[in-house]
Amino acid sequence: MTGLTDTHCHLTCDELYEDASAVIARAKEAGVDSMMIMCTSPTELEHAFPIRESDPDTFRVAFGWFPEDASWVSDKELAYLEQLAAEHKIDVLGEIGLDYHFDTSFKEKQKDLMIRQIEIANRYGLPIAIHMRDASKDCMDILKTYAKTPIIFHCYSGSTETMKEALKLNSMISFAGTVTFKNNKQGPANVIACPADRILSETDAPFLAPVPKRGKRNEPAYVQYTVEKMAELKEMDPEDLKKQIRANFNSLFQ
Ligand SMILES: [Zn+2]
Repeated sequence: MTGLTDTHCHLTCDELYEDASAVIARAKEAGVDSMMIMCTSPTELEHAFPIRESDPDTFRVAFGWFPEDASWVSDKELAYLEQLAAEHKIDVLGEIGLDYHFDTSFKEKQKDLMIRQIEIANRYGLPIAIHMRDASKDCMDILKTYAKTPIIFHCYSGSTETMKEALKLNSMISFAGTVTFKNNKQGPANVIACPADRILSETDAPFLAPVPKRGKRNEPAYVQYTVEKMAELKEMDPEDLKKQIRANFNSLFQ
């Protein structure tokens, strides 16, 4: 296969960066020729720039302060992000959002950080990548009020009802390896319900490896298994789905 798209991989996180060139080689071998490198720290970002520079047709770079960073991020960190946006150093602002899964003790700080980052994206016309976990209501309320640029719902795992709300916005729904998991009923139902022209594929590597690699360290090459599963669920030719996903992804940057 060629023409596969991984819209969300943490290629420069510690687990993958130590053998990034081998990981990239395996991705290319598997036909993955569009990847977005998600960075959650300035160090990860500094490592991502030369990768994109070496192959700008394949790589895009994203940076944002993660929801859990809300406990410590100050104006200084937001100014850093604003400068990256102003200097066109990032292609997407994210991942940003709300995560109430482990800790609900600083919801207001999370919301404030999400809003301030969306405002930066708005000022520079950058698409945003959204992390939304056990926080659909607050997250959707913020997006409806503030988001003015295209939205990627990363590793979408909410209800079909919330997905339909999300589809009313200028958005794409990105699915990860979890849709291949045997015990997952909601993910496949969402893939089926998502219109083909609004769907994206991702790994979220090094996390969430799809079947048949479940439990292993994930990497972009494995997006093939998720796309195969999505095509089966949607009763689409995998080639057609891959082309559609690529067109969807590219449309975010026009
Ligand atoms: Zn991620």
